[in-house]
Amino acid sequence: MRFLIIGAGFSGIVAAHQLSNAGHSCTVVDRRSHLAGNAHDSHDKAGVLIHNYGPHYFRTNSQRILDYLSKFTEWREVDYTIKSYTEDRYWSFPINLNTFEELIGKPATTAQFQTYLEENRLDIPAPKNSEEAILSQVGPRLYELFFEGYTLKQWKRHPRELDPSVCNRIPIRTNRDDRYLSETFQALPAAGYTRLIENILADSPNVSLHLNTDFTEARARFPHDHLIFTGAIDEYFDRCFGALPYRSLRFENESFTAQELVSREAISGKKGFWQPAMQVNYPGKDIPFTRIVEIKHATGQQIDASTIVREFPKDWSPGEEPYYPVPAPDAAAAYRKYAELAAGEIDTTFIGRLATYRYYNMDQVTGMALATSEKLIKRFN
Ligand code: FAD
Ligand code: UDP
Repeated sequence: MRFLIIGAGFSGIVAAHQLSNAGHSCTVVDRRSHLAGNAHDSHDKAGVLIHNYGPHYFRTNSQRILDYLSKFTEWREVDYTIKSYTEDRYWSFPINLNTFEELIGKPATTAQFQTYLEENRLDIPAPKNSEEAILSQVGPRLYELFFEGYTLKQWKRHPRELDPSVCNRIPIRTNRDDRYLSETFQALPAAGYTRLIENILADSPNVSLHLNTDFTEARARFPHDHLIFTGAIDEYFDRCFGALPYRSLRFENESFTAQELVSREAISGKKGFWQPAMQVNYPGKDIPFTRIVEIKHATGQQIDASTIVREFPKDWSPGEEPYYPVPAPDAAAAYRKYAELAAGEIDTTFIGRLATYRYYNMDQVTGMALATSEKLIKRFN
């Protein structure tokens, strides 16, 4: 069988790997000039390894996915820790016992924090949206401090218009565990995501890769028996029901020499760094960006310079990168119309974050690509 795969991100490359190793020929195209989709990383002009499309923290609870990816990379285990900056100070975040102590200005115990939560959280047995999800756990003060403004900026929607799962991505703990994520395995590919994807490709016989190539061109140019589409599902169908809502981002990068970083040491607490953690969130409504990422904290790259990236959320319009599907009931309803059309396309399989319109992480799309490839191999062998 000849597969044409649109997209050279995790979804497309994992599918190509599985299908090609099962004896099929695969042509992979991407309209971007590089591999790894939104997980792409590269060295910038200052020599700093950056995540080009926002910070990508690999995490998973799945041993199967970890075993699969571990064939192609060593890992650098990282406890992803971040801070939040609001009301003119840095806070421990996600909310934990340290945050509570910072809030009340004195030492406290887990029991005291639990009592605070009992007294402050709202009694909402089955939260229906992101506002209720957080209010039901921590109450108004912590919700307003850390979630309301950030979410409004990120999505240009109020948290009450978003699924509970959006803000529930962020753990809330009463101990001192201040890691941003909760999954059992948290690490970065030691040589980066692009290298990881290159290694998967190098283990894929019978795959031809064409970058800078769009779907429309590829479809006409490369004869195929089956198509795997990992781009935006509404784009595949020429937006016949109108564009699905997406949220986009603008990244503003700034690099600093070792000399320039000296004056930041009092703030970062470390030589060679600009800020005190790999990511600082800015939930304040008056600040136009949501977070500043200094990924060198996590990559451990030994380099004197450092680069920070400010993330400004923005409206999406056709022609721009649709970074985030919007996890909200109206968007899900709009997606369902496209999903129904997709179910009728027997010669095309839709996988990945954009083609299934889901707020999926890298491990989840890897799992999806593995499972779908298995089904396709059974179907076509
Ligand atoms: P993509 O990576 O989007 O790849 C799809 C590819 O298809 C793209 O390269 C695109 O150029 C190409 N394409 C699309 N349409 C066409 C077309 N018409 N013609 C040709 N090519 C086309 N995940 C985590 O696990 N941890 C994180 O910390 C994390 N942080 C994130 C931060 C940001 C800002 C964003 C946007 C995402 C983050 N993710 C994170 C999610 C992660 O990026 C995705 O799960 C993963 O990259 C999805 O892989 P994919 O292959 O499905 O899609
Ligand atoms: N969020 C928030 N305050 C924060 C961090 C996150 O309100 O300080 C909310 C916000 O709605 C965000 C969601 O939680 O979109 C998920 O956050 P995450 O950091 O996982 O976002 P991503 O890295 O996927 O952009």
